[in-house]
Amino acid sequence: MQKQIIEKLEAIVGEKWVDTDSERVLSYSLESTNDNYSMVAPEPVSGSVVVKAADSEEIAAILKFANQEKINVIARGAGTALAANTIPDQESIILSLERLDKIIEIDEENMLLKAEAAVTLGDIIEELKSNDHLYFPLHPGDEGAQAGGMVAMNAGGVRAVKHGIMRNQILGMKVVLPTGEIVHYGGSKGKLLKNNAGYDLMQLLIGSEGTLGVITEVSLKLYPEPKANGTLIVAFNDRRDAFAAVPAILKRGIIPMALEYVEKDEINMAADDIGKKWPAENGEYFLIIMLSEAKEDDLFEIGAQLDEITAEFNAVDMLIAQSISERKNILDIRSHILPAITDKIVDSPDVTVPRGSLLEYLDKLNEIEAKYNTKCPVIAHAGDGNLHVLILKENGNMPSYFTEIKEDIYQSAVDIGGTITGEHGIGKLRQKYLSMMYSKRELEIMKQIKNAFDLNNILNAGRSI
Ligand SMILES: Cc1cc2nc3c(=O)[nH]c(=O)nc-3n(C[C@H](O)[C@H](O)[C@H](O)COP(=O)(O)OP(=O)(O)OC[C@H]3O[C@@H](n4cnc5c(N)ncnc54)[C@H](O)[C@@H]3O)c2cc1C
Repeated sequence: MQKQIIEKLEAIVGEKWVDTDSERVLSYSLESTNDNYSMVAPEPVSGSVVVKAADSEEIAAILKFANQEKINVIARGAGTALAANTIPDQESIILSLERLDKIIEIDEENMLLKAEAAVTLGDIIEELKSNDHLYFPLHPGDEGAQAGGMVAMNAGGVRAVKHGIMRNQILGMKVVLPTGEIVHYGGSKGKLLKNNAGYDLMQLLIGSEGTLGVITEVSLKLYPEPKANGTLIVAFNDRRDAFAAVPAILKRGIIPMALEYVEKDEINMAADDIGKKWPAENGEYFLIIMLSEAKEDDLFEIGAQLDEITAEFNAVDMLIAQSISERKNILDIRSHILPAITDKIVDSPDVTVPRGSLLEYLDKLNEIEAKYNTKCPVIAHAGDGNLHVLILKENGNMPSYFTEIKEDIYQSAVDIGGTITGEHGIGKLRQKYLSMMYSKRELEIMKQIKNAFDLNNILNAGRSI
């Protein structure tokens, strides 16, 4: 990066907050894609600079300057993205949000938590521990993920069945547009449940993968803390049975907080990796059902109903965890699957299908496994129809059929009304598959939207659409 550019950035944020040290810049140029999918993650281009702005005003000045000089800017949260979303492919300003780390308020009347962009999921959970009646339900895997990053990725995760994904939690936000204007969405206070005035640009920002604006503040919905919580593990010997049980459970009016599907090898690897024990001894395939109810009695009643329903699908065992430590144990093991299986996999497309079509997708997956003479284990946010299909390494190497199998996994989902990604987004890894989902005209409209926000294409250029 040229000296005069560095000097200008130093003039905006102060010398201390501009970093050109190559090792540190490299650490900001890598993300979880490099850790977990090293065979498909691109190598970062060197020569970028890390800039740590203090507030929206400094970010506005950086973006105005970047526009003037036509320099690419990558908004950087915690770097837990999984689709090559923040890895520079050109010399860039890596705009780290880390100094915007304050929880601004918990507004009890409006049941919301307003946070600066870099407040992490872990911070939110910790802050709400001292609040005895409000909580934030979502848990998209990595507790280091930042509020801004979770919004920019429209994260989903384990606990989205009852209250929805990130998009459903956002009441307002403060954003710096690529041209440097600071705007507020969700009214000037960012606290609106309803807003039908004009096009909803806030919804466009959600899931925009850092391409339309830099999010600096977010208001997140809070919910009444459920008084009775329990986690059930239901074991099956056939994965068809486990999948078939999912719509049956939901259809009977049971709406759990989470309805996850995992397989024995992966869940045991995750447990071993963090020195814990997966509590279920029987079965090969498991549903993890997290319940959060108003009363203990409801919990027991639903537990009994689940026992009945899953028995119809040949469940071989059911365990109930009620204490906080038992439930945390299960969530910790579940959340650790991805890091634990990293050495085993090349990639794991997170296709999503209508949840009533889970079995249909499984049949297609069986055909894919037969076609390539391989196994495709699945981890799924099953209650959302969101499957992470594992493409395994072959003797530690990229399988020769990698490109073809990946395409089949995506196409099979799209063919039954699904999508190529339910939560990890497009980034750099999935751009070429977007045409499976959208017509030329639809993609053209997306490009026009990008142009309307960012005519000089300075924000995370070449990502997402
Ligand atoms: C072990 C593990 C498990 C995971 N499980 C899940 C899961 O279950 N569900 C799920 O949805 N995701 C999951 N993820 C993915 C990841 O946690 C999410 O994508 C997360 O929301 C990204 O947040 P971040 O702060 O790390 O953002 P980053 O990785 O830093 O950035 C992600 C994207 O958002 C943009 N961005 C970041 N901050 C801002 C901002 N303030 N303004 C504008 N753009 C911004 C970046 O430019 C980039 O395009 C998992 C990741 C890991 C490592």
